[in-house]
Amino acid sequence: MAKRRTSSASRRSRGKKLLGQWLLALLVLAGVFLLFQLGSRLSASDGLWSALERMFSGGGRRIGLVAGHWQHDSGAVCPDGLEEVQINYDVAQRTAVLLRRAGYSVDLLAEFDPKLEGYSADAFLSIHTDSCVYDLSGFKIARLPESAVGEQADRLVAALYREYAAVTGLQPHYDTITFDMREYHAFREISPTTPGAIIEIGFMGGDRELLTRRPDIIARGIARGIIAFLEETPTAAP
Ligand SMILES: [Zn+2]
Repeated sequence: MAKRRTSSASRRSRGKKLLGQWLLALLVLAGVFLLFQLGSRLSASDGLWSALERMFSGGGRRIGLVAGHWQHDSGAVCPDGLEEVQINYDVAQRTAVLLRRAGYSVDLLAEFDPKLEGYSADAFLSIHTDSCVYDLSGFKIARLPESAVGEQADRLVAALYREYAAVTGLQPHYDTITFDMREYHAFREISPTTPGAIIEIGFMGGDRELLTRRPDIIARGIARGIIAFLEETPTAAP
């Protein structure tokens, strides 16, 4: 009897020791994960403090990105077969990666995504590319004229114009903003309190090199514009 008690007590203590080791291992793993997360943000920031701030502040803010025409049609097509949707999807995905790395939650949405109905976010942007015209270059951005959050939408558009031009070196092409851009279907589907815009990132003809060979620059320009807008927009009181 006594012997059995001793052996079960020693089994219990061995069990406790093992549990302690597991907990320690988990703690170490969590620490490594935290350092890794911090490191990935540190490179894009100006210091440890702002990296920490970004890591814990951006998480609650949501951004919706539509990859134009995705899961619906090809969009504009060049004579050699290059499709607009390929460029839009590539750029939207890269932009989502950059924004997530900066600590934001991102929804990558299809052109007619069921999630668009009543979609609520801190910023919404649909990404498209202009037609395959070889003697035109430049980008443009528009929002719904009668938006219920017009002041915010204006600031989103302004931040995008400023940052996108600075990063990509492309010129704004205001003259070719169409009725279809301003009356873009998703503007009337998303929640009226979500500030939204649509961007035509460049011409598949004139800006082809940049759009297809350096999509990372395009994505950085968009991400910087959205982040600049969010950073100048105060968070709603809890
Ligand atoms: Zn399009």
